[in-house]
Formats: sequence, structure tokens, C-alpha cells
Amino acid sequence: MKDHPSIELATPVQYLPAVGPTRAERLAKLGLKTARDLLFLFPRDYEYPAPAADVDQLREGVPASLMGTITDAELVSRTPGKSLFAAIVENDTGAVRIVFFNQPFRAEQLTLDRRVLISGTPKLNGLRMEFSHPKVTILDQQEDFPGPRILPIYPLTEGVKQSDLRRLTRLVCDSLDSELVEVMPASLRQTGADALRDQGIDLVGDLPGIEEALRMLHYPSGIDSLSSARTRLVFQELLVMQLALAMRRRRVTTEMRSPPLPSTAMIDARITNRFPFELTEDQRRAIDEIRADMARQFPMNRLLQGDVGSGKTVVAIYAMLLAVANRHQAVLMAPTEVLARQHYDTLTRILAGSRVHVGLLCGSLGAAQRRAVIEGTESGEIELLVGTQALLHAGGKFKCLGLCVIDEQHKFGVSQRDALRSGGIDPHYLVMSATPIPRSIAMTLFGDVELSTLRQLPPGRGKVNTYLAQDGWKLRWWEFVRERLNEGRQAYVVAPKVFASPSDTEDENEDVTSVESVFEELCNGPLSDYRVGLLHGRMGADEKRSVMESFASGRLQVLVTTTVIEVGIDVPNATVMTIQGAQRFGLAQLHQLRGRVARGAHAGHVCVFTDGESQPEENERLKTFAECEDGFALAEADFRLRGPGDLLGRSQSGLPPMRIAELDRDFDILVAAREIAQAMVDEDPGLNADELVELKRQVLRRYGERLELGDVA
Ligand code: ADP
Ligand code: MG
Repeated sequence: MKDHPSIELATPVQYLPAVGPTRAERLAKLGLKTARDLLFLFPRDYEYPAPAADVDQLREGVPASLMGTITDAELVSRTPGKSLFAAIVENDTGAVRIVFFNQPFRAEQLTLDRRVLISGTPKLNGLRMEFSHPKVTILDQQEDFPGPRILPIYPLTEGVKQSDLRRLTRLVCDSLDSELVEVMPASLRQTGADALRDQGIDLVGDLPGIEEALRMLHYPSGIDSLSSARTRLVFQELLVMQLALAMRRRRVTTEMRSPPLPSTAMIDARITNRFPFELTEDQRRAIDEIRADMARQFPMNRLLQGDVGSGKTVVAIYAMLLAVANRHQAVLMAPTEVLARQHYDTLTRILAGSRVHVGLLCGSLGAAQRRAVIEGTESGEIELLVGTQALLHAGGKFKCLGLCVIDEQHKFGVSQRDALRSGGIDPHYLVMSATPIPRSIAMTLFGDVELSTLRQLPPGRGKVNTYLAQDGWKLRWWEFVRERLNEGRQAYVVAPKVFASPSDTEDENEDVTSVESVFEELCNGPLSDYRVGLLHGRMGADEKRSVMESFASGRLQVLVTTTVIEVGIDVPNATVMTIQGAQRFGLAQLHQLRGRVARGAHAGHVCVFTDGESQPEENERLKTFAECEDGFALAEADFRLRGPGDLLGRSQSGLPPMRIAELDRDFDILVAAREIAQAMVDEDPGLNADELVELKRQVLRRYGERLELGDVA
């Protein structure tokens, strides 16, 4: 029975029964403009009511649900502002009482003859069970009791109630007159289901069609159908993404060109002999993977991940020298100038006595120097170029670029790569990251990227002890720091902000510890007898460099700094670190910081202070940090604490956010989708089969532009 006009996908929500202009405006805030939007509004969770009980099954103190009709209701006002609403809910098996204090509006909502589902924890009051402030769902008057249902929970905004959205989505499901586009033909729903079962996912029959899936998502008839509906939609979303990535991979291998840079046993020996140590097994494995990639005539696209200090730079240098051995140039891009200079120094040291020319290009170079470097790069005289992003904007072209290494990938955008492409030839790419990426993310975000991982640290590394400061620790800690300094070690002190001036702290509390104030405090207090330097991002490049050099050479004993040092600074003699205002740092960041004092043979010590009232011990993140030294485990924990949203954020990946899939939870579905996608693209690279028209359209609509799949269309 339908007593409302038919609804089309494009029907504006305003014309749905009981909506109207005001409510339509509120719905628009949730992005709900048409019936279609409602249909594709995915619940963020569900409420699973306890199975409805008979009255004689109720027991005191045990949560239960019960359905019935309101047969008696009364609102008693006592003193002004105080009221009691009581009603009797009755069904075939008996009657219970429900009560609400000081909620007089209940009297309007829970009127005689209403059918309701109540849930709560009953108590015996006299001879009758009583629910105080139960959850109440008003059931449809026209229909039979539906049985206890799983209820969707939608995202809300002001003025839009859960019950509004439930009513509207259900209305659209029931009265939709348009036909929905099915992107997954029956055959694909069958192979998909098989692949999912192979991954151990419980699934009865094939994946449901789109209409059934959406209906079940909004108005589930039971756990099983809800689960297969959700599985179908998650699978679809991940399949579309994996198809895009598979098409892109294929495009890279068949259409893009890079110079093959093969290696021989002799080249290998020549390069490894330059290193003053044995490579670790992990380094060796990563290098072999890179050698295989670089020998091919399409671009390597490899992510080298490893904890701070695991020796990634060495691997990168190997790859760069391999390019040079093949008479090609290589470039290494670092996120900061300080780091670029450090890489430059390392390269120069390793190449001492060789004929290889290394250049450095960064923002602070004088015009003449800069021109010389650009000219050297264009003529090919400079074979290895190190720099910051500045080199992308320098305007110079490489004579024959074979390899591009990007340090700390998360600070670089994907689009910046275009600047390095020349004449239809791409260089090979190696991206280094000290923030390990969970496998599920690597398979999506970096779906067309190969992964090499350094898990072991080079031998002879000092251990790092991490302490959470407790009340009254300040004096003892600075005493400890002085002892280490007297032994000849050096120390970092890290604070979150540069200045304490209020103009600068618009969105933050006034009492954020600033490096400047810490610097003054230490110079006039606990470290007054020591040589203390200050380094932060607002200083000029020359100033920064001279401070860094003073610290590296040992002239400065203590460096007070912001997270400028987070990435990659290498001063092995620095073994003590004090982190102020630590609650403001993320886990990955803290771990990066800690890596700074694990560089040499001496044990490192990190002490974590928070500012304000809170104690480090009370902070989950800081506790995790202190307890766990493994960067990979911390990355997983971070991922769990923050959710995947951060990592999958548009800014990071360039990919649109997931609408329904949750990568950690849906990892098995992801694996199945990836397998199927790869098989489909192998068989039909352009997805040109008739029955895939709609699927292909969706792939291109969602990912075409971002992944440059344009030509496939
Ligand atoms: P990452 O870039 O991964 O943080 P680096 O490449 O900067 O690490 O290496 C950290 C330190 O370890 C450097 O001083 C480097 O010279 C040293 N190192 C790298 N590999 C080895 C090795 N196999 N054996 C001994 N020391 C190594
Ligand atoms: Mg590094």
C-alpha cells in the first residue's frame, strides 16, 4: 500500500512527505538534496536491540526489550519544573510500567494506543516490572509488529533527528520508482562472492544486487542480510578503487618509459666498497629489489620504509650510484634544507676521492651559486643533485635524469613528480619513509607502489630509555642532563612552539611551551654553565645552518629546538632528549624525535614532560610511546588511535575518501577485491566488455582524473 506520490532518484527531499523547506535546508547540511542522496546515505553504525522478551521472562537488572501498546498514560506535575510521566505498555504476555522524570514531552509522544518497542533494564516495583527512562522506538501503526529490528544510525546534524532519517530512508527504499544502475553484473557478484569466501568471509549465496543491498543496509531484516549487504557495498567500493589502481599499474608498465639502469656484479662491488660498514640483511634485500626494478624500461615506483636510523639513506645512495654507473643523473629531494645539507655531506664523504660530482640546490643559495648548480645539472656535469623542493622550481632541466629519490614522502605531493618528467621519459622513483604504513594502507593509498622494508637496525645501536616525567621531576632530570653533558654527551630540548606571543596562538592555549621561553629559562637556570643553542623554523637559512653545524661539531652542547629536527638529523653524540609539551605531538612524531638520540653507541635517554595540569601518565598516546620502541607497532597503534581517516585524507593520497569501507576492518575484502581487479584487468585491460560498461564508468568517474586514466576512456 502506498499513500504517497512516487519517488524518483532525482526527487528533491523537499517534496518528500513531511519534509518541506525548513527541514530540507537542514538535510542539505548533511549533503542530502535528493532521494538518491538519502538512498546512498550509509549508516555509520547500527543499534542491535536485544530480542524482544515476554513479560514473564523479564528479570530484575537484566537489560531487555519489549514490544507492546500503551494502554494507560499519565503525567503528574509536582512542584513547578518537576514531573513524572508514567505509562503502561501491554502485550499478549502481560504489562510493564515505564516512567520518565522531568520529561513532560513524553506525554505528547507516548499517547494511548501507540505501539512501541522499549529497551532498558527493568526493576520490580510492587508486583510489576518497571523500566525507568527506557529507550523507546515508536512503531508503525499500520503494520503488524515487525519484530525487534536492527536500526540504522545515521550521521546527524542540528535539527535532524535519527527518527527523521530512518523514516525518510525507509520511505525512499519502499517507494522508489526509478531503476538503480547496477555496476556489478550477476557473474561478477558470483565470482566476487567466491573470492570473498576464499578470504574466509562468511557469505551465504552470491553478493546481493544493488537494490536489495541498499534496502538491507537501511532496513535490515537480520544480521546475515545486513552483513551481506554491507559486504557487497564495501566490495564494490574497494573493487572500483583496485580496478583503477590495476589499470594504472598496467599503464605504467606498458606505456611509460624509463631508462633501464642494470647492475652487474662489478658495479655492485664498486658501490658497496664505498660504504664503511657491512650492509644489513634488510638493506641487502631492499637493494636487490631496487636493482631488479631499475633494470627495467618502465619506472620503478618503490617505497622504502624503515624505522628512524634503520639505514634507508644508505640504500638510497646505492641506487643513486647505480644510476651514475649507468651514466645517468640522480636527484635526492629532502623536506628541509637542514636535511638536504646533511645528505649532501654524507654523499660527499662517501664519494671522497671519486670523480662523481655532487651538487646542492636549496632556497638559501646565492644567485650565482644557484646558477652554477643549475648549469651543471643541465650540462650533466653534476651527476648527483641534492636539494629541497626549491629544486623543482629552479627551472633547470636535467640532462638525463635516471632516478629520483624522495626522502620522507609524506611531506611531498604526488603532482610534484610531473616537474621531473622530460621528453616522455620518467625517471625511476624511490620514496623513503620513516613512518611505516600499515599493509592495508600501502595496498590502497599506494596501490601501485612496491614496498621494501628495513626492519632491523644496523648493529651497535645504543638503546633508548623513555621516561614519563612525574611530579617534581624537573630538578632531578636537569641534574641527570648535566651529568651526561659533563661526560661529553650532547642534548636536545624540544618544545612545540616558536613564540609565546598571543597574536601567534589564536587557536591554541596561551600556556603552550615555546622554544624561546624554554631557551631563556634553561640559559638562566639549570643549564647556565653550558653552551646552549636555539634552532627553529622561523630563523633564516644561514642562521639555521650555522647553529646546526655548531651542534654537529660539538661547539654547542645543548640544542633547544622545535620539530625542525624531527626528520633525519644525525648527531651520534647527542644522547639525551627532553620533550616539553609532549601532549601536542603525534605518536609518529614522538618516535621520530626519539630516533635522534639512538644514533651512536651510547644509550639514549628521552624524558617526556607535558604542559598544563595534565601528567604524562594520564595520556594514552604518551604511555604507548614510552612502552613501545618498535616503530612499526607504533604506526599500527597510531593508526588505531587516530583511525585511517588521517592517512587516507585527500591531502595525503590524492584519492577520494572511502564512503563505506573501513580499511583495517575490511582488510580481507580488500585482498579479495584486489585479486579480482587484477584478474579482470589482465583479461580485459580497458574493461571494454559490454557488461562492464557501468563499472568502468564508475571507475573513471571516481578515479579517472586523479590517476590519469583518461586515455583508457
Ligand atoms: P635512516 O635514513 O633510515 O634514518 P640512515 O641511513 O641515516 O638511517 O642511517 C643511520 C645511521 O646508521 C647513519 O649514521 C649510517 O651511517 C649508519 N648505518 C647505516 N647502515 C649501516 C650498517 N649497515 N651498519 C652500520 N651502520 C650503518
Ligand atoms: Mg633518513
